[in-house]
Amino acid sequence: MRTLNDKTDNQMSKNTGKNVRAFAQKTATPEVAPPRYTSFNGYLKEKFKARVYRVPIDAGFTCPNRDGTRALGGCTFCDDRGSGAPTINQVLSVKEQLTTGIERIRRRFKAEKFLAYFQAFTNTYAPEAVLRSLYDVSLDHEDVVGICIGTRPDCLDDNVLDLLAEYAQKTYVFLEVGLQSAHNKTLDLINRAHSAEEFFDSVERARKRNLTVATHLIFGLPGETREDMMETVRQIADIGLTAIKIHQLCVYKHTPMAVDYSLGKLPLLEEDDYVELVCDALEMLPPDMVVMRLVAEGTREEIIAPDWCFEKSRIMSKIDQELERRGTQQGSKFVAKVRS
Ligand code: SF4
Repeated sequence: MRTLNDKTDNQMSKNTGKNVRAFAQKTATPEVAPPRYTSFNGYLKEKFKARVYRVPIDAGFTCPNRDGTRALGGCTFCDDRGSGAPTINQVLSVKEQLTTGIERIRRRFKAEKFLAYFQAFTNTYAPEAVLRSLYDVSLDHEDVVGICIGTRPDCLDDNVLDLLAEYAQKTYVFLEVGLQSAHNKTLDLINRAHSAEEFFDSVERARKRNLTVATHLIFGLPGETREDMMETVRQIADIGLTAIKIHQLCVYKHTPMAVDYSLGKLPLLEEDDYVELVCDALEMLPPDMVVMRLVAEGTREEIIAPDWCFEKSRIMSKIDQELERRGTQQGSKFVAKVRS
C-alpha cells in the first residue's frame, strides 16, 4: 500500500536529490491505512462518543447444557469458568465484580464508560425476577451505559426477549447468542445441545423486537471442512446481526476436548490456514457488521493448544497483511439475499 512516505520520497528524489529525501523520510507522518473491517471499539466510540469497555461478570448462572436440563457436561470446549474471562473473580458479588472491573479497566485502558458484560455461563437462564435484580444491580453505577448478555438460543423464549426489549427501552442492550457452527452434525459432536434452527429462530424473534444481536463462531471445530465453515458464515451473513465474534478452536484445560487432544483425536488448525479462513469470512460478511473479535487469546495456565493462541497480535497483523495482499476488505464478496 502506498504511504505518504512513498509519495514524499518520490517527489523529492525527482526534484532535489537525496539529502532532502533523507530529511523527508525523517519528518513525514506515515499515512494510517483505513481499517479493513468494522471494529467494535470504533462502533462503541461512535455510539457513545466515549471510550467504552466491557466489564466481564460471572453472576452465578449455570447452563442448561450442564445441569441436565438439556444435557450434562457442557459444550466440549467449555471450561469450568463457563467461557468467562480469567479476570473474573467469582467470589465477589455482581456489584463488587463490576466496581473492581471498572477500576482495573479504567486504569489500564483509560476507559470512560462501561458495559456490564454478563459473560460466564448462560445469562438469561433464571426466573424473570432474578434476571431483573441482576441486571438492575449492574446498571446502578453512574459510568455503566448498558448491558451485554451472553446466552444460548434455547434460553431466549418470548418472555425473556420481551424482558430484554423492555430494558432496551431504557438502556443499551447487546445480546450475544452463541452458535459456533450452523451444522447440526457439528453441534451434536461438541455437545451444544441446541440446533442451528433454534439459533435462527431466536435471532429472528430478537430482531423483531429490535434488539441488537451478535453471535460467536468457532473455526476448526472437529470434523469441519473449510466449506462447512464458510457455509456457516454464508448462513449468518444476512440475518440482521449487528456483530460477530470469530475465533479459532482453543483447547482449554479440564475440558472434554483436552482429553481428545491428549489422545491425538483432535487435529487443530494451523495459524496460516486460520488467517486465510478469517479473511475469506470477512469478505463474505456485510461491510457494516461489527467485528468484535477475530482471534481468541489466553494464557498457558488455561489453554493447552494451539501454541499460536498466545500470539494474538501476530495473527491480527497477518490477517491485515493478507487482506492487503488480496486487495480486499470486509464485505468485498458480500451478497445480500433477495427477499420476496
Ligand atoms: S452453552 Fe456456554 S456456558 Fe453452556 S456449556 Fe456451552 S459454552 Fe459453556
